[in-house]
Amino acid sequence: MSQQEDCPFCQIARGEMETDMVHEGENVVAFEDMNPSTPVHVLVVPREHVTAPTELQPERLKELVDAAQTVAQKQGVAESGYAIRINQGEDAGQEVEHLHIHVMGGRELGMP
Ligand code: AMP
Ligand code: ZN
Repeated sequence: MSQQEDCPFCQIARGEMETDMVHEGENVVAFEDMNPSTPVHVLVVPREHVTAPTELQPERLKELVDAAQTVAQKQGVAESGYAIRINQGEDAGQEVEHLHIHVMGGRELGMP
C-alpha cells in the first residue's frame, strides 16, 4: 500500500500522530477535523495515500463512502442530514494532498 513518510494523514493512519479518532476500519480511518467548520466535522481517509478519488480502486472508494455513512450515524446526524465533500485541487482549496471526505453536519448547511 502506498504511504508517504511526511504526510499528516498517513501519519494519523499509521497511529503516529495524535488525533480524535471516530472510526477505524481495515482500509479507512475517520477522525475529527482539527479546525471544524460545523458542529460535526469529521474527515474520512483511506489508509492508502492517494490524492484523488479516481486513483482508488472502486471497492476502496465504496468503503470510504460507507465509512462516511457510518460516521454520520455515530455522530448522530444520519437522520437530520449531513454533507460529504471532497476538495479537489487548488481552486477547491485542497490543503492536504491525501484524499479525504469531509463529513459535515449538526446545523443547517448552505452551499457551498
Ligand atoms: P482540504 O481543504 O479539503 O484539504 O481540508 C484539509 C482539512 O484537514 C482542513 O479542514 C484541516 O482543518 C484538516 N486538517 C489538517 N491537518 C489535520 C490534522 N492533523 N488533524 C485533523 N485535521 C486536520
Ligand atoms: Zn498520505
